[in-house]
Amino acid sequence: MLAPFPWQGTDWARLLVDLREERLHHALLFSGPSGIGKRLLAERLARSLMCAYPADGGDCGQCRCCRLMQAGTHPDCLRIAPEEPGRQIRIAQVREEMIDFVMRTASFAARKVVLIAPADAMNTATANCLLKSLEEPTRGTYLLLVTDTPVRLLPTIRSRCRTVALRPPGWEEALQWFIARRGETDAEDLLGAASGHPLEALRLDGTDALRQFDRAANLLLRSAQPGPWYSTLAGEVADVDLHQLLAWMQIYLGDLSRWMASPESSRLPRALAVHEAMRARVSEQSVARLLRDTLRAARDARATTNPNKTLLLESLLAGWQGVAADA
Ligand SMILES: [Zn+2]
Repeated sequence: MLAPFPWQGTDWARLLVDLREERLHHALLFSGPSGIGKRLLAERLARSLMCAYPADGGDCGQCRCCRLMQAGTHPDCLRIAPEEPGRQIRIAQVREEMIDFVMRTASFAARKVVLIAPADAMNTATANCLLKSLEEPTRGTYLLLVTDTPVRLLPTIRSRCRTVALRPPGWEEALQWFIARRGETDAEDLLGAASGHPLEALRLDGTDALRQFDRAANLLLRSAQPGPWYSTLAGEVADVDLHQLLAWMQIYLGDLSRWMASPESSRLPRALAVHEAMRARVSEQSVARLLRDTLRAARDARATTNPNKTLLLESLLAGWQGVAADA
């Protein structure tokens, strides 16, 4: 019974053993970075829990329950997600849909499953409402939570769940899988831009992500040299999403730092020319410092409702220039 993705074999095997031996915890928290297939693994476990004729503990894919699960219409499986991506899960979704669902007797099998993804889209009130059902687990009801950022869940929720900590595949494994899925063109660059997370790389494929990445790298290069780069900055970044730009800057600087330490460890072939030009202007220490400052700026920007993009970038990059000048 294969895992949804090859790098999940060990975690999947462990879940199947628990399932077969009827000792699966009633609340599981699937955590790990985004773009590595956490939700699909949780979904697969949900299907296996509902299957009427499980093979080796996993879903058969053919029985009526499996077909209903595939269609998303199994009455004993409730999937809760924000109504629009990026929004919060409404408290009513948990209070009305879930409490009703948990109290109701299962229609087909003895089991019921609630799948909440992303679980960090619950605010405190919603999460408190969920806690109720975690405190009084109903027999045969399983709760599967999925999150990239477990720290954003209430500690009381985390402590009631058993965590399934999923890790990204190694670079080579991720690259092989990604190339098999969509061919070699730009494969390394896309995977590098996705921090090595294969499903995130698939998501970036076909978007203008690499062009945006190049812009961020070039902005860093220009601002590392003396000259009035800041006079054109506001116009240059007018159409850019600040959070996204800071994220690309982190990825670029991370790769520059790796490349400076050991050139063959770069994962972004398209950045090599910029890396070369950068090496003449900045030291490894200054790259490490700007990377730290960029992380801090990204955190500050997220904590502010309406951050001043130009001001924030100016102060971040001015620091970089000062460092670059004496490198
Ligand atoms: Zn089945």
